[in-house]
Amino acid sequence: MQITDHIHALKIPFKLELTPGKTLDRSVYAFLIYGEKICLIDAGVSGSHEMIFNYVRETGRNPAEISNLVITHAHPDHIGGAPAVVKETGCPVAIHADDVPWIQDIDLQYKERPIVNLYSLIPGPTKVDRQLKDGDTVDLGDGKSLNVIHTPGHSKGSISLLYPEDNALISGDAVPIPGAVPIYDDPLVSIQSTRKLMDIKGLDVLLTSWDAPCHGDALYKLMEDATGYFQHIHEVVLKAKADYPSADLDALSTHILEGLGLPENAKVGIVMRTFQGHLNRSEYQDLLKA
Ligand SMILES: [Zn+2]
Repeated sequence: MQITDHIHALKIPFKLELTPGKTLDRSVYAFLIYGEKICLIDAGVSGSHEMIFNYVRETGRNPAEISNLVITHAHPDHIGGAPAVVKETGCPVAIHADDVPWIQDIDLQYKERPIVNLYSLIPGPTKVDRQLKDGDTVDLGDGKSLNVIHTPGHSKGSISLLYPEDNALISGDAVPIPGAVPIYDDPLVSIQSTRKLMDIKGLDVLLTSWDAPCHGDALYKLMEDATGYFQHIHEVVLKAKADYPSADLDALSTHILEGLGLPENAKVGIVMRTFQGHLNRSEYQDLLKA
């Protein structure tokens, strides 16, 4: 669907395997910026290139016009479609330097952040043509560009992308949706990243990979609520740790999910990793004042 004058959003469904044979229906957004050329932001999972290319054709453009693939971070639902996009279009791939190891070496990603069906979500590695850093710009042709903002916390190399032409901010997974299952590495760094985005004035639309586009003042409220959500989770984690000091991460995670009112089937590696991230910051009671 078209969101702004130049940006189109595509909701891509996929299945996350929780335990062998047991899957959860999830979705992720990818974005297309239409100009003189086409910039694709994130590529979904393995096989998503077909959905992306079909959308491009349906809207009267040609997939061969995709001249940039910019990736917000190297998680499977953002990079899985990349090898096929690159094969078909030959476009260069850009990602933050800190997430390069996980896109170029899938075995390393699996070792460091195991997901049961990782290898079916990502068909293979993607060669990176440009390593991005905070403050970089990506030239989209036609005098237009994307500004790169390093927003770590969800992953080390997570970036957000500002498209000033349409006052649009694409935040990848950097800003969580309050109430949703939390997935990030470091809550304190995530808060700092979210605040960095809140400081950008005059935004008309926030495009997260998690949820539908958020417009106007509601987008600043969403980011404010997201910082509160990090702290809420922190308090629940610290309480569980205080109540069950000898519990291991697995047992603790059951109590934390209960405290958050989230389903027990959310107790998977990437969510337990989030809770560990909070435990790593247990020297702070209030992350918002840290
Ligand atoms: Zn992610």
